[in-house]
Amino acid sequence: EQIAESHVFEADVARLLHMMVHSVYSDRDVFLRELISNAADACEKLRYEAIETPLLLGADAENRITLTLDEDNRQLVVEDNGIGMSRDEMIEALGTIARSGTRVFMERIEANKAAEGAQLIGQFGVGFYSCFMVAERVDVISRRAGTQEAWTWTSDGKGSYSVSPETTLTVAPSRGTRIVLHLMEDAKQYTSRWTVERIVKEQSGHVPVAIRLVEKPGKEPVQITDGTALWTKSKSDVSKEEYTDFYRSVSGQYDEPALTVHFRAEGRQEYTALAFIPGTQPFDMFDPERKDRMKLYVKRVFITDDADLLPRYLRFVRGLVDTADLPLNVSREMIQESPILTAIRKGITSRIITAIEKLAERDAEAFLKFWENFGPVLKEGIYEDIERRPQLLTLARFRTSASNEGYRSLVDYVKDAKEGQNAIYYLAGGSLDQLKASPQLEGFRARGIEVLLLTDSIDSFWTMNAPDYEGKAFKSITQGAADLAQFAKLDGHTMPEGDNESAATFLAFAKEKLAGQIADVRASDRLTESAVCLVAPEEGYDRQMEKILRNAGR
Ligand code: ADP
Ligand code: MG
Repeated sequence: EQIAESHVFEADVARLLHMMVHSVYSDRDVFLRELISNAADACEKLRYEAIETPLLLGADAENRITLTLDEDNRQLVVEDNGIGMSRDEMIEALGTIARSGTRVFMERIEANKAAEGAQLIGQFGVGFYSCFMVAERVDVISRRAGTQEAWTWTSDGKGSYSVSPETTLTVAPSRGTRIVLHLMEDAKQYTSRWTVERIVKEQSGHVPVAIRLVEKPGKEPVQITDGTALWTKSKSDVSKEEYTDFYRSVSGQYDEPALTVHFRAEGRQEYTALAFIPGTQPFDMFDPERKDRMKLYVKRVFITDDADLLPRYLRFVRGLVDTADLPLNVSREMIQESPILTAIRKGITSRIITAIEKLAERDAEAFLKFWENFGPVLKEGIYEDIERRPQLLTLARFRTSASNEGYRSLVDYVKDAKEGQNAIYYLAGGSLDQLKASPQLEGFRARGIEVLLLTDSIDSFWTMNAPDYEGKAFKSITQGAADLAQFAKLDGHTMPEGDNESAATFLAFAKEKLAGQIADVRASDRLTESAVCLVAPEEGYDRQMEKILRNAGR
């Protein structure tokens, strides 16, 4: 017999494992979903590689996941006949952490949000390690498709693992992975057929690979889910629960989707799309690396989740597109350049935006919740997607000087604009309280002119090149002349007529004293109570944009 090699976990893994066991215990059931999701991924990878190398499938073409319960030995075995792992792949995949979000994940858990932890596992790509929540030892026996040797990885999750060649071919499958969980004393319920079946149906009912259950070693397997792709069914045959379940498995999130968009496009391009808008914000919404996570399938074979199927400003959408119009062996270059994909991209973008518009019409409250989660991202589209700019501007909701709470749309704004008002005024800054207290607002308030209060950093960008909405230009109130003289002040805001001569003397005095520091000093209709305020020149950036650029060191 060959000797097992011992390895130490990467420091982050050791820390993470410790947390899994000690902090993330509120919902231990999730480990099973994570293992099943990995098994299904492995089957999809195999199918994909088999397009080029059909030999990989051999005589065993049908993918399946098998769960075996062994109450007597307190074991649960999760097995798949997917792609498997070579020795090096095992060491890489099960000893290190690939994704960058892990630090954030650990910080969140350390900040005592353990309850949230279980919900986050799937999103952070640390799913495998969750099996140490229920197992005191884990053996992973795997054979990479197309290779002859199998390997066993084993660990108690306490700092090290070992890898050794697996010689008993009865234990090693012809390809794929078998994960044996030696369950903790207080986790023996995971050998109960009833418990496991319930969890699988609840969490993994729509994994696109059939799942079978063996109640006791030696018994015949019973199929518990059929692995039919949910998206191929027609909308009327899918229940809300089924959609939610599927959403959870594609997103790794546990909430309810805010919107589900499922359609089949027919005509020049034929494809099916199933897309979800999450009910809560994914953790990495503003990570510059984050892309959309729409999966591309060709004739039900998973191809990639990196096909940029949606514009960046819809990067919160989760789901998939399945088309028969592309060849199965579609290459990366083809994906980037394919006019078919360009058309599909356009098609699903429109459908998703239409669905958001309908939500806004149908259910104002749900729409506002959506807006609070994703408005700041969607607003990026106002400057990135010129074609859809008017639509996106109509969807946008704003805090304004006219309402203390609640949101206003530009439709509301335009409807209530003053006679002769041909601008949409805005004030951009860091926080709502700060903006509400700004002296720049005085003259507008006194005249009952509404001002948008913009607090997202993206606001300074889109306002700069959104030319107009319904013929009205966006105008920063911290920039250039205010042109307010034509609008009458509301009752109670009138002031005694100014003394032009002393004003002129003051302006000359201020200009002289501040020469070199400011460009000009002017009398203005902007203020009613404060004496002075700083204003940016007509051309160029407004005050907030100046600040943003200064902070960025430009
Ligand atoms: P993620 O699935 O997000 O990559 P996981 O922690 O769940 O993160 O899994 C880590 C990696 O381990 C996977 O990316 C895969 O490479 C490997 N892996 C886990 N389970 C299997 C399996 N059943 N078959 C093949 N590879 C697997
Ligand atoms: Mg996983």
